[in-house]
Amino acid sequence: MEKIGVFTSGGDAPGMNACIRAVVRTAIYHGLEVVGIMEGYQGIVDKNFIPMTADSVSNIIQQGGTILKSARCTQFRTKKGRKKAYKNLKEAGIDGVVAIGGDGTFTGAAIFMQEYPDINFVGCPGTIDNDLHGTDFTIGYDTAINTAMEAIDKIKDTANADARLFFIEVMGRDVGFIALRSCIATGAETVLMPETSTNIKALVKTISEHYERKKASIIIIVAEGEEMGGAVKVAKKVSKKFTALSSRVTILGHIQRGGRPTAMERVNASWMGLEAVKALIAGEKGIMIGIVNNKVAHTSFEKAIKHNQEISPTLLEMVKVLA
Ligand code: ATP
Repeated sequence: MEKIGVFTSGGDAPGMNACIRAVVRTAIYHGLEVVGIMEGYQGIVDKNFIPMTADSVSNIIQQGGTILKSARCTQFRTKKGRKKAYKNLKEAGIDGVVAIGGDGTFTGAAIFMQEYPDINFVGCPGTIDNDLHGTDFTIGYDTAINTAMEAIDKIKDTANADARLFFIEVMGRDVGFIALRSCIATGAETVLMPETSTNIKALVKTISEHYERKKASIIIIVAEGEEMGGAVKVAKKVSKKFTALSSRVTILGHIQRGGRPTAMERVNASWMGLEAVKALIAGEKGIMIGIVNNKVAHTSFEKAIKHNQEISPTLLEMVKVLA
């Protein structure tokens, strides 16, 4: 292996820059040439390659977003688009690629490698959702829960001042990891997630119990993908039962994707980037680099995509017991 490429794909996530930096510097350290591929798979199809030096990734470890940009590329979903991508990689002399992205990104890489087995792809899990098997934390997740936590803390200050019932919607279309952790971290009263069924009767009972305890405020965390369709719909069903409480809905939205990555994010993303290049040098391919129990884990793309992490029963117990 002499020359590798690195790209970010799918939804952007804080910490991607730290990972890019680690890939570039590890490659150079080991004597490889490295190019940045702009806008995910679109950059491969368009041959949008930028030679990278150690200096070109200076001063980015602390920045959110991604210097390589991210895009959704429809052409790569077609055989014709992937053929063009292969031709461009071969012409540029790139024989290894580090793909930083989520399940769609790894699905694309797995299909491409079946068609063109002489280009090796290794993945780093880049998504705020934490919805990949084979790693305890995806790149972006820790920053996203910290951002949600800070926002919810602020809402709680004002909710406490005026006995309010708040429904706060956080990101998570298919999984509730951000919702669950931010609920526990802020001491919110309960959480609704895609993994659990939304029972309005039970929710009304929970809110009533907290109301009777004369809590200063009641905060319900709602993952955007929960069964009923999000915080607005849940609030509409529930608020009318609590006329003594003024009720509000806040949708945190894209603030959860941005911002300076946390220390943990920077360290883990750097670690994964370093290990991804080492794996390529060792001739490995078709795997995602993860961190499980503070150790590096290699998981095939197929496994990483198919098996979601389980929601920990202990975390659910914490919500119930500690609220
Ligand atoms: P996130 O979890 O943040 O959504 P992701 O990696 O899952 O990130 P997607 O938009 O699903 O994001 O996928 C990123 C890109 O991967 C797509 O734009 C497309 O170019 C490529 N891709 C996804 N699925 C396939 C597929 N079945 N075949 C080929 N390429 C694919």
